[in-house]
Amino acid sequence: STPVAIFCALLKAARTGLVVKGGDILEALAKTKIVAFDKTGTITKGEFTVVELWTLSNDVNTNTLLFWISSIESKSSHPMASALVNHARLNSIEPKPELVNDFQIYPGEGVSGDINGKKIYIGNKRIAMRAGCMEAGPVGEEIKEVVTVGYVLMGTLLVGFFTLSDTCRTGAKECIEELKSMGIKSALLTGDSVAAAMQAQKQLGDAIEEIHAELLPEDKVSRLSDLKTRVGPTTMVGDGMNDAPALAKADVGISMGVSGSAVAMETSHITLMSNDIRKIPKAIRLARSTQSKII
Ligand code: ADP
Ligand code: MG
Repeated sequence: STPVAIFCALLKAARTGLVVKGGDILEALAKTKIVAFDKTGTITKGEFTVVELWTLSNDVNTNTLLFWISSIESKSSHPMASALVNHARLNSIEPKPELVNDFQIYPGEGVSGDINGKKIYIGNKRIAMRAGCMEAGPVGEEIKEVVTVGYVLMGTLLVGFFTLSDTCRTGAKECIEELKSMGIKSALLTGDSVAAAMQAQKQLGDAIEEIHAELLPEDKVSRLSDLKTRVGPTTMVGDGMNDAPALAKADVGISMGVSGSAVAMETSHITLMSNDIRKIPKAIRLARSTQSKII
């Protein structure tokens, strides 16, 4: 009867929109003590709106800034990229990705490219440091109410910055509260700033136990290892290419199937075929009841 119980559970999971890559995964899921959530695209919708855009240089007006940003970001699949491209179009600026040479992605940091003979970097504080600019930090700290701050650098020079807002997914708070009621802790792991992480925490309420911000993909892995030793069996939920190593490290990795990256889906053990993260506590309940039927 054991394989039958597992088969039924997998079928039931599939009907609720969870693709589970094997019966042993349910066994691991049933043991979960903590769920680590990525922020952008997992807890939040990953549908950004550009709030503001400033130029910090007399030589670069906002139209030029938007042209550079949108042309380079046209080559990126990050959730922030499409918002920036849309924002340019709304301001009647047509991106020209064909003018961008040497496009590069720095996971957890941002992107860069050469355009009209200039090296442009777009991203967070880390990318500013990578470009050799040390003054990007304080600018970000002054903007307290803002969700995500992006910097634009021309070579080592900080030439502009922008702010983006994102919203938590419907049911994110309920998901974390339900996990808590089941005796399971929750943590937030993000590559975004401390301010952005705290903003999300405010919307999620007290049920979230820990937040860790400004993490590179490899930092997510070390945080995950730490959770495993401190708390116990850990499930990780994420959508991005930056989450893939952590998804692989987790006892159970869950990817977002609708808007997530292909690499996250390949690395995970379970794919959520809807954006409803409330399916996660439901899946753990199902896994637990399957275990009790087997034992
Ligand atoms: P999260 O862990 O919250 O999903 P990411 O690791 O994808 O976030 O990104 C971390 C940070 O890196 C973003 O908040 C952003 O500041 C910066 N970033 C990443 N990709 C880009 C991009 N294409 N353009 C601008 N900034 C980016
Ligand atoms: Mg993400």
